[in-house]
Parts: sequence; C-alpha cells; structure tokens
Amino acid sequence: MKQKMLWIVLIFILLLCSYVFFMWFKSHRSFQILGKCIHRVETSSKVVALTFDDGPSEDTEEILKILSSHEVPATFFLLGQNVERFPSFVRRMYEQGHEIGNHSYSHRPFIFKTLAFMRDEIEKTDCVIRQSGYEGTIHFRAPYGRKLIGLPWILYKSKRPHILFDVIPDDWASPGVSTIVNRIVAQTRPGSIILCHDGNGDQTGDDRSQTVQALPIVIDKLRAEGYRFVTISELLTFEK
Ligand SMILES: [Zn+2]
Repeated sequence: MKQKMLWIVLIFILLLCSYVFFMWFKSHRSFQILGKCIHRVETSSKVVALTFDDGPSEDTEEILKILSSHEVPATFFLLGQNVERFPSFVRRMYEQGHEIGNHSYSHRPFIFKTLAFMRDEIEKTDCVIRQSGYEGTIHFRAPYGRKLIGLPWILYKSKRPHILFDVIPDDWASPGVSTIVNRIVAQTRPGSIILCHDGNGDQTGDDRSQTVQALPIVIDKLRAEGYRFVTISELLTFEK
C-alpha cells in the first residue's frame, strides 16, 4: 500500500514537472539546445534592429518609403511565397541598404514537421531570395519564432544562428497605433530586436496600416532617446 502511494506521488511529480517544462518552453522562444538563438544582443551601446516579418505585401511599399525618408536600415524576414509575388520590392529592399532574412516559404509552423519539410522550406526561400539578386547575408527566423529539436539541428549544421526578438508589440493584431508605439518604446533596450510585420503570415487579417502609421513615430521617439538603427548583421557585431 505504501509502495503504491509512493508510485502515485512519483507519477504526479513527473506529470507536474512535464507540465511546468512545457509551459516554460512555450513561453521561452529563446530556449534552444543546439546552436545559437539570439533574441537580443548584450551591449551597452544604444543600437537597435528593426525587423519586419511575413512580407513582402502591398504594405511593404509604404514601409520602404518611410524607412528611406528617415534613413533607417531594417531587416526583412521574407516568406518565399511572397517573394515570388512581389519580386520588385525585394530588389528595392537591398538597393535601399536593408538586410533580407528567410522566414520560411509558406509560414506553416515548424513544430512536429520532418527535417525534409523544414529543409525544403528554408532552401526554397533562400533560392528565391538569391534569384532576386540579393547577395548579402540571409539570416533565418522560424515562422511564429517556434522550434523543437529538428530546426536547431538544421541551423546548427548550416552554421546559422536563429534570429528572434525581444520587443514584441503584437502589431499583427492591430491593437492601435499608440499601443504599438508605447509597447516598442517601453520594451526597447540597447541591443534589442524589434518584431514588426509588413505582411500577413497566418491570414488573420492583412491590414498593416497601424504598423505603417506607428513606424515614423517609433523612429522619432527611439532616436530622441539616443538609439541608432542597424541591420541584424551589424547588431551582431556589438555582441560582447
Ligand atoms: Zn511570421
């Protein structure tokens, strides 16, 4: 009887630990067993990287105009399928000095997918980005920023860090221009990576007008605080 009780307690503890680990894993996108996962660079310099996911889309044009008029370099994590739809925007991105990253081909989550599926999504996207004429570094960010074991293994083997973010305004949910601005300004620290969206990865609504309106305000506010905008590659040079 005593032994039975002991087993019940052990199983209960095991289940509890598994649940705590699962919840922790779900909320910690930066956790990765293999390879490097970067959500912010440890530096005291006031540099910050502005990144845009899921594009290009119709809204990319306006975002490129604002970045150009404010002379701000950014990094665009593109979907391969959207690169094929808007190839001219990709050329404008690198001609304006922006960096281009790979955000998968179709934006289907990389959780519980085969290595072949993930490799195919990454390689197809690298390929269409190169076909646009871009010759710079192509960093990688998984759709939804999520991964289990397979993706870190692929990135580790290809010597690519997983580029994530620490400033999350959730602009994709259109929470209001002032909310987007306030979240970004409140969360930004030296070495931060800001996650914005110029496209629509999960088809929940493709209105990016709030992001477009928030962008010049965010640029002005962060510059007033002494921040300088850099691409992801430049940000990585500040790593201690
Ligand atoms: Zn995305």
